[in-house]
Amino acid sequence: MLDCAIIGGGPAGLTAGLYTTRGGLENVTMFEKGMPGGQITQSSEIENYPGVTGEITGMDLMMPWPEQCQKFGLKHAMVEVTRVSKEGDIFKIHKGDGTIEEAHSVIIGTGSSPRRAGFAGEDEFFGRGVSTCATCDGFFYKGKEVAVIGGGDTALEEALYLAKICSKVYLIHRRDTFRSAPNTVERIKRTQNIELVLNSIPDEVYGDKMGVTGIRVKNNDGELRDIEVPGVFTFVGNDVNNQTLIQEDGSFLCDVNKSGEVIVDISMKTSVEGLYATGDMRIAAPKQVVSAAGDGAVAALQVISYVDEKLN
Ligand code: FAD
Ligand code: NAP
Repeated sequence: MLDCAIIGGGPAGLTAGLYTTRGGLENVTMFEKGMPGGQITQSSEIENYPGVTGEITGMDLMMPWPEQCQKFGLKHAMVEVTRVSKEGDIFKIHKGDGTIEEAHSVIIGTGSSPRRAGFAGEDEFFGRGVSTCATCDGFFYKGKEVAVIGGGDTALEEALYLAKICSKVYLIHRRDTFRSAPNTVERIKRTQNIELVLNSIPDEVYGDKMGVTGIRVKNNDGELRDIEVPGVFTFVGNDVNNQTLIQEDGSFLCDVNKSGEVIVDISMKTSVEGLYATGDMRIAAPKQVVSAAGDGAVAALQVISYVDEKLN
């Protein structure tokens, strides 16, 4: 029986792992389906994590986190969790390999995943010219032209990254103002090889057997424009990963809002006793590494008291 099961090994889960184990819980496992680190490992630069100066990638930032937790006894199970349920006051962690583990408490931080934009050809060419990861796929387009779709922090930051590798970046956004931080917008405007294609939405991505050959965009006046590029990067937001909370009858284990974000109080407590939700998946998440880590610490401190009270 685990004192605490942590689901997800991003900044929230890893920090929860650090604080629970260092705070005295002896039997804590973090269930992470891949390498720990979370979605920030896909970022080509991070400049707003406190204490980080100079240019480092998300991977650089997250590299030491797992080792730090393991030093205090956190175990990492590299497995996908398919469902979390509760019977009496015991949580059941249903794993992808068909086995179940039991836990007194759960901290969930399964984050979010890139959303599809929904234009014609997006699914057909996904992985063959359409991508949601510039650090993973940008190099394939070295010296070539690419298109980026979106107007938030991710789209603009990744457009800047791609502009260093590619000969030209077309930044396609459906409005003429951006959601991104003002200094990022300024950097975009200063970058010579980024062309802004504003008030435009993708109509279709097309190509041949080899992959993408171009994207057709439609502006607010209905005019169509073909942009010949072999690569299209979409950064149009994320959906929360709440699937593990869905029960056999289709209901959620705890309360969620209309967007599927888990409802928590300021202690990261959900509507279910002993279950805490952290990071990008919870309501009103600032969607930052620093706040996800903060959530993990808050939840862990709650769990230490909860388990202590329950067992003693
Ligand atoms: P995540 O980082 O999403 O981690 C969740 C983890 O859970 C993942 O490792 C996933 O594999 C695992 N998981 C999911 N489902 C399961 C399951 N069923 N079983 C087991 N494991 C599971 N924030 C900043 O502060 N500064 C930035 O500069 C910045 N840049 C960004 C750039 C990009 C390209 C992106 C995509 C995001 C960026 N962000 C940035 C946002 C930041 O990455 C997130 O806010 C943060 O990673 C959220 O942490 P998290 O722990 O909640 O979730
Ligand atoms: P986001 O802020 O939700 O932005 C998504 C962008 O995609 C918006 O500009 C949106 O247009 C556009 N869009 C949405 N659906 C679309 C569609 N179907 N077709 C075309 N365009 C579409 O998402 P994000 O940029 O991934 O950021 C997510 C969160 O992570 C944010 O809170 C962000 O601040 C944070 N983040 C922070 C940093 C950082 O701090 N440096 C870096 C990356 C991400 P509209 O603007 O018209 O809605």
